[in-house]
Amino acid sequence: MTQTEHKPLPEGYQEQFMLEAIRQAHLAEELGEVPIGAVVVRNGQVVGTGYNTRETGKLATAHAEIAAIEDACRRLGGWRLHQCDLYVTLEPCPMCSGAIINARIQTVYFGAYDPKAGCAGSVTDLFALPFNHRPQLFGGVLEDQCAGLLSDFFSRLREERKKMRDIRTFCEN
Ligand SMILES: [Zn+2]
Repeated sequence: MTQTEHKPLPEGYQEQFMLEAIRQAHLAEELGEVPIGAVVVRNGQVVGTGYNTRETGKLATAHAEIAAIEDACRRLGGWRLHQCDLYVTLEPCPMCSGAIINARIQTVYFGAYDPKAGCAGSVTDLFALPFNHRPQLFGGVLEDQCAGLLSDFFSRLREERKKMRDIRTFCEN
C-alpha cells in the first residue's frame, strides 16, 4: 500500500481548489493539449496557476505543476513554497515530483492516478524517500472527474484520428 491510499483528507483541504485545477486543465484542452491543470495555494488563496502546454510550447518541461510552481515563485518573490499546497489533476511525474520537493511544497493533492509515469505511488513513490523535504500526499481527490477529463480527451482524439484515416482511405480509393 502506498502512502496515498485511503487517507482521509485533512482540514486544510478545500475542494474549490481542486475545481480550480480542473478549470486550468480545461484551458489546456482548449489549446488541444492533454488536459492537466494545477494550482498553488497559500493561506486559502491561489498564488499560482498552470496547465500543460507541452505541444504548443514545444517543451518537454511544460507540465502543469512546473507552470504553477513557477507562477507562485514569481508572484511570491521566492523559491521556497513551504507554506503552500499544490492541487493537480494528475499524479505528478518524476520531473514534477522533483520540482515539488525542491520548492518545499507542504501538501500535494492529486486527482487521477497515472500508472505510466506517476511518482506518487503508481510507478514509484518519490515522496516516500528520505529527501531533505517530504511533502504530505493525498491522491485520488475528485478522481472520477480528473480521470474523466483525460479519458474523454483521448477517446475524442482516437475518434478524430479514425475520421482522418477514413477520409484518407476515401481519397486514395
Ligand atoms: Zn510532470
